[in-house]
This record gives sequence, C-alpha cells and structure tokens, in this order.
Amino acid sequence: MPMELARNWRLRRQRLSLEGAQCAACGHLVFPTRPVCPKCRSRQLQPYRFSGRGEVYSFSTVYEPPAGFEGYAPYTVAQVRLAEGPLVTAQLTDVDADSVYIGMKVEMVTRKLFEDGENGLLVYGYKFRPPVMAPTNGHVSADVLAHTEPQHEAQAPVLVAN
Ligand SMILES: [Zn+2]
Repeated sequence: MPMELARNWRLRRQRLSLEGAQCAACGHLVFPTRPVCPKCRSRQLQPYRFSGRGEVYSFSTVYEPPAGFEGYAPYTVAQVRLAEGPLVTAQLTDVDADSVYIGMKVEMVTRKLFEDGENGLLVYGYKFRPPVMAPTNGHVSADVLAHTEPQHEAQAPVLVAN
C-alpha cells in the first residue's frame, strides 16, 4: 500500500470511529490520541474506541461561516462530553439550531463534512446528532431512513483534514 494511502486509511479510521487512547499506566482516556498521557506522563497509550455517545457540553451556532462554507450555514458546532469523559468538538447534524441545549444527548454519526469543489473530493468525518431510536420490530423506520445518507465510502476518495 502506498504510504500516502496508508496514512489516509489510518487517519480515516481515527476520524470515522472516534478512536482515541487509553493510558495503560493510569487508565486515563484521551481523545484525540497523543503520545504522552496528560495525566501521568506515561507513554504507554493503547488505542481505545469510544462509544460515540455523549451530551452537549457547550455549543455555538455559526450564521456567517468562513469563505467556502456559505452553503452550510447556519450550523452548530458543539463541545460534546463523551460518555467516557473526554470532550470532543464537532458539528451537530439532523437538529435545528434553535433546539440544541446544554445536556442534550447525542451520538456520533459519520457524515460528509464538505466537498472540495476544486479537487472533486468528498471529505468524511464524524458529526453528532440526537440519538435515533433503534427499531424494535426489525424493520428500519422511515425516520431512520430519512437520517441515513447513501454510503459512498467504497468508491469515494477520502481526504481527511487534520
Ligand atoms: Zn496515564
């Protein structure tokens, strides 16, 4: 596998599955992953996959986005307190800006972040949305379908922004 492709896959996994790390020395959980435990300075960090569940810790809605993102406004960026503890900053999706509140339960979902028009690239990453109730009868409800975007992953080149 070419080096650049390998790097993209690694970053992609980190972006799409909320992969952080757990300190083997003290058990502290960190996201995103880093080489040294911020709590005990140990370097024994192991990959750790977070559940993706959490709640809104703080948020702000962007009405005047930077150049190139005009079509996406308004959008809400939140700090999400993960169930496991760490704070993650990410965009919210599938929710009206007016109905976001501190303490709102959210879950991670993989979404297209933006299209790079010049290069024709689709950039995927995680966002958070209010949890969608799991169907109890084995059928996928219309509500769930409405919240599900087509999967382009198999074909689309994925560029992950740092
Ligand atoms: Zn530690």
